[in-house]
Amino acid sequence: MTDELLNAFTLDVEDWYHVCAVDQWLPRSEWDSYEHRVNRNTDRVLGLLDRFRVRATVFVLGYVAERDPELVRRIHAAGHEVATHGYEHRRVIEMTPEEFRADLRRSVDVLSGLTGEPVTAYRAPEWSILPRTRWALDVLASEGFEVDSSTMPLTGYGHRAIPPRPHVVDTPHGSIVEFPATTMRCLWENLPFTGGLPLRLAPYWYVDAGIRTLNRRGVPALVYTHPWEFDPDPPRPPLPLSRRFLHDFLVRTTPAKIEALLGRFRFGTLRETLGLPARARSVVGAGGGR
Ligand SMILES: [Zn+2]
Repeated sequence: MTDELLNAFTLDVEDWYHVCAVDQWLPRSEWDSYEHRVNRNTDRVLGLLDRFRVRATVFVLGYVAERDPELVRRIHAAGHEVATHGYEHRRVIEMTPEEFRADLRRSVDVLSGLTGEPVTAYRAPEWSILPRTRWALDVLASEGFEVDSSTMPLTGYGHRAIPPRPHVVDTPHGSIVEFPATTMRCLWENLPFTGGLPLRLAPYWYVDAGIRTLNRRGVPALVYTHPWEFDPDPPRPPLPLSRRFLHDFLVRTTPAKIEALLGRFRFGTLRETLGLPARARSVVGAGGGR
């Protein structure tokens, strides 16, 4: 561990069937009947974080929190920042602003009810806050959110204009800090490499060198992963090829890469990485609230 800059470690707590755009194969109406695997898999990640004494920002899906309150309490008790991944794992591009606000509030009610703290950070499923769904940042700011981490700063159409490093976004309801996915410029494109499928595809040395380069320039990296990437025997639902690729391809390579990164770099929550002041604990019921 030679680099001193703090990087952000984030975990999106969702189960194996929370895959976007597959309602035909894994319909919402069937979720309750599927095997609940998120619990043990999240504990695997929490164990690893504990071993390296890293506090992370954990974006919990409201649906999971409602089904497994103890899991949220364990995450919170371990000192991690409990944030929201929305309630139903719907992409922002599929929702109206009203639907987005309702989904957000439903998740916040469950999460803050369990932790006794306000929820101030959000991550959209599939990095679905684009320039055309930027209204979501206005909604987040109006709901008291301070940090968003839902953008992928690619250079192509639909993504242009998203700066590739943490930045403040002003909205009519106040400002919010956006921490986009970490990318490295490669020819004409900004390529992600620090989480999910991109992390699985990239050789470890490339990821390590990329983060070192960014840190040398004073830019913190954002690492992200999911509990299902730590499942030793993941279910293989019959999905379309593109979705299967996104979820299954090289999935067994994730734990070793995450472990190597945790041993190599300094990590903290989004708030710590951004240098935001720590929130007062237990403000709910003490005359506070959002
Ligand atoms: Zn997700």
